Amino acid sequence: MASVVYPERRWAWVEVDLNAIRKNTRAFKSLLSRGTKMMCAVKADAYGHGAVECAKAMATSGADQFAVATVDEGIELREGGVTQPILMLNESPVESVAALLEYDIMPAIYTTDFAFAYGEQAVRMDKVGKYHLAVDTGMTRIGVLPEEAVEFRHSIDFHRGLECAGTFTHFATADVIGDWDFKQQAKRFEDTVCALRDAGFDPGLAHCDNTPGTVLHPEFHYDMCRVGIGLYGLQPADTTAPRIQLTPAMSVRARVTRVINPAVGEGVGYGLTYRVPKPNIQIATVPVGYADGLARTLSNNMDVIVGGVRARQVGRICMDQFMFAVDVNNIRAYHPAERVERGDVVTIIGRDGDEEITADEMAERRGTINYEVVCNFSQRLDRVFV
Ligand SMILES: *Cc1c(COP(=O)(O)O)cnc(C)c1O
Repeated sequence: MASVVYPERRWAWVEVDLNAIRKNTRAFKSLLSRGTKMMCAVKADAYGHGAVECAKAMATSGADQFAVATVDEGIELREGGVTQPILMLNESPVESVAALLEYDIMPAIYTTDFAFAYGEQAVRMDKVGKYHLAVDTGMTRIGVLPEEAVEFRHSIDFHRGLECAGTFTHFATADVIGDWDFKQQAKRFEDTVCALRDAGFDPGLAHCDNTPGTVLHPEFHYDMCRVGIGLYGLQPADTTAPRIQLTPAMSVRARVTRVINPAVGEGVGYGLTYRVPKPNIQIATVPVGYADGLARTLSNNMDVIVGGVRARQVGRICMDQFMFAVDVNNIRAYHPAERVERGDVVTIIGRDGDEEITADEMAERRGTINYEVVCNFSQRLDRVFV
């Protein structure tokens, strides 16, 4: 990996493969019929991949709209030059409605408090405040209840500052094939959209499918799909893996800052939870820690790749650094005459030679999901786009 790029100020970085992002975006777009729009979820800094760069790559590969979770995430996209419609997937504090209107970020709406604050501010600014109505069909998170939707529209629709551009719900079990609860949510959503139309309301774009829904439930694509994790090349569940081929976009790499060959019995890291068991074990230090999003619960329970070969992480992961061990007697592909050296590239997530460490592997070791693993790599690590 001699030609690898890395930021100059730090020997640790996140590489994001924008070609993979484009390829994955096109793969999802090709699942949609011609009239169906694709909304790309780039919340949480595009699941840790860099929101503006990813949104621009997606926009050239079929993205019609973007979804964020906070006002600041929407503003970042606008300031970065993103021009497509942006939906914020929930309500924000009412104090922020002017910012939403100024930056043309549509909120999801489900309380009259927020709706009126937003509508009134829109009138003051001589604008029309577009929004999407969130419907809680069974996730019990946000949204108006299905039986309240028509009444809710009645209570806010007189407002000339408001315009409903969409109606959506979110599935709790879209990844489970043949699930009864999923079917019930889908039915409640369908009934709600019909009821709104029957009552004379335009629901705008109807949308409900997330990544697993988009792959497994094409009958519920409606007017738009909201795709997230799949765009980054990660499978939301085992059920989707046979149905769509994806390319992971994120790699996390660093360089070794120091190597020593301690005596047998010497300990490593806080609490000395690892002790050198035999001669010729190299202990190498990597400048990445839990403050970078490498969970401390991975201590003594993860591998890294160096020179195309796996090595065990040892000792407790510190705030800014961790150590790994290389059994020099045992190195195979890594050139036997060589040792791990200061400056060598270490792969924490990603591929090096024939070895690969996936976000799924790290998630399993941590007892979480790949979504959390990629989101956790913090802003302290520069995103390098390759
Ligand atoms: C995050 C999110 C999505 C995207 O979910 P994925 O599982 O990543 O595809 C879609 N809709 C809502 C409301 C979300 O919060």
